[in-house]
Amino acid sequence: MISVAKLKKVFDGTTVLKSIDFSVEKGEVVCLVGPSGSGKTTLLRCLNLLEVPEEGTVAIGKKTVDFGGKKLSRKDTNELRAYSGMVFQGFHLFPHKTVIENIIEAPLIVQGRDKNELVREGEELLKKVGMFEHKDKYPDALSGGQQQRAAIARALMMKPEVMLFDEPTSALDPQTVGEVLRVMEDLAREGQTMVVVTHEMNFARRVSDKVLFMDGGYIVESGTPEEVLTTPKEERTREFLQLLE
Ligand code: ADP
Repeated sequence: MISVAKLKKVFDGTTVLKSIDFSVEKGEVVCLVGPSGSGKTTLLRCLNLLEVPEEGTVAIGKKTVDFGGKKLSRKDTNELRAYSGMVFQGFHLFPHKTVIENIIEAPLIVQGRDKNELVREGEELLKKVGMFEHKDKYPDALSGGQQQRAAIARALMMKPEVMLFDEPTSALDPQTVGEVLRVMEDLAREGQTMVVVTHEMNFARRVSDKVLFMDGGYIVESGTPEEVLTTPKEERTREFLQLLE
């Protein structure tokens, strides 16, 4: 489903991704873990071209984009982006729109689809994330966890092959973290392909098929959650895990 090869990203003369290779199969949940500043968010953002890499390739679904040659076209960007939906640390809902208006906005405007049909689909998704009863509320009337569940429903509206989560629970009050992780776990169980940047090690252990440990712009170690989080081979992984204890 996703194949990344020799990916390199430079910010202001500093190489923050140094030749990244990894792949994700359909239906897999892959967690990206590692210390702050190791490049996890940048890597995730390169998958939907919120950041444009300097070198390497990203392939998602049937689309492959090769960087380093000619300038990236709008068509390539849009085709690659159509495969993924992104959920951010801050929820980025439109403040002046209700929950249901927020989640039908993209398919209504971008795809020009029928509004009544979208409302029906949107309501089904809101039921799935436990937000149906809040569908006519504005974001500022909701808790962080509720806003994040609405943001997940909004990303799902575009029926992405892959869901990308960038530290989706980091900005939440501790009491609402669980409700968001449960929604993500349900999605994983239904076979949604997901890449998740997270500090929630229990979630990574329980839900992921594969864990990638990043440090200093490299994937230092990858494998099953047991391999990487319980019996890591690399000293840097062990040090990181010890700091969390
Ligand atoms: P992580 O998600 O693992 O905390 P990031 O991908 O956010 O790491 O950041 C990796 C490195 O890239 C850090 O040194 C960070 O300061 C730098 N960086 C990230 N985004 C930008 C940007 N837009 N401009 C300049 N440097 C950036």
